[in-house]
Amino acid sequence: MYTLTPHSHLPTLPRLPRTCRATATSPARTSTADPPRHLPITATTTITTPATANGSSLHSTWAHRAWVASGFASVLSSLAKSVSAAVDSGSAFDPLLAAFLGYILTDLGTGFYHWAIDNYGGPSTPIFGRQIEAFQGHHRWPWTITQREFANNLHALARAVTFAVMPIEFFATANDAAVHAFVGACAGCVMMSQQFHAWAHGTKSRLPPVVVALQDVGVLVSRAEHAAHHRPPYNSNYCIVSGVWNGLLDEWKVFEAMEMMVFFRFGVRPRSWSELELEWKEESGGVSSESHNC
Ligand SMILES: [Zn+2]
Ligand SMILES: [Zn+2]
Repeated sequence: MYTLTPHSHLPTLPRLPRTCRATATSPARTSTADPPRHLPITATTTITTPATANGSSLHSTWAHRAWVASGFASVLSSLAKSVSAAVDSGSAFDPLLAAFLGYILTDLGTGFYHWAIDNYGGPSTPIFGRQIEAFQGHHRWPWTITQREFANNLHALARAVTFAVMPIEFFATANDAAVHAFVGACAGCVMMSQQFHAWAHGTKSRLPPVVVALQDVGVLVSRAEHAAHHRPPYNSNYCIVSGVWNGLLDEWKVFEAMEMMVFFRFGVRPRSWSELELEWKEESGGVSSESHNC
């Protein structure tokens, strides 16, 4: 039996080359040292053509812009209520601390969410299918994120933020500056995480100097750190706000431990266990992430 302990080396399961097509349920090869292999592989993905094959998919539509506008309105509503409540109470310490916690915890949240959709499910997965497909496409054609227009890149998260925050702000009766600050910071970081991600793929000379400076001091996820996510073994650096949790999560092998638990409980292999997985590999035809980060 395997022991799952942080700081320890987890047992290495063989990485299986897969055919990586939509409904592959390949039986794994058998070994006495292997975990049970009678269970099917269910984490599969269909890969579509790169976004650059359809230039219009990189452009923002009015619907995209409307969702981003409503997302920002939600965030600004929370922050405005926080400022108002802080002025009334005469104290800014609590809301500032709450906003900082929101920023830190959102980075952690993006790590778990990114890990989950990178490794499990497929295009047909309810609710998350399109995001799963989009992230797998991103691994094959990472340069396209730098070509996406702002609202095109953010509209999905902006819509989620709108649906999550608007009801909170509308129905919340407590006028607590810290609560509003926490909600606003979390929502803002969630919505902007895809922009931070896009900047992490940007070329230093083409990024705004302030963005480069924020990346260099660790306020935003760095280009070098995120580039490691797109290199073998494709199972690290999942956090995309500040990346402050990446070192700890990877050092403690948190995601590897969770993958082992999912496998032993449900028999589902994460995509990161397949080294030859086409979903992970960057295809030629664009500017590579690594060259972006030189
Ligand atoms: Zn990823
Ligand atoms: Zn990326």
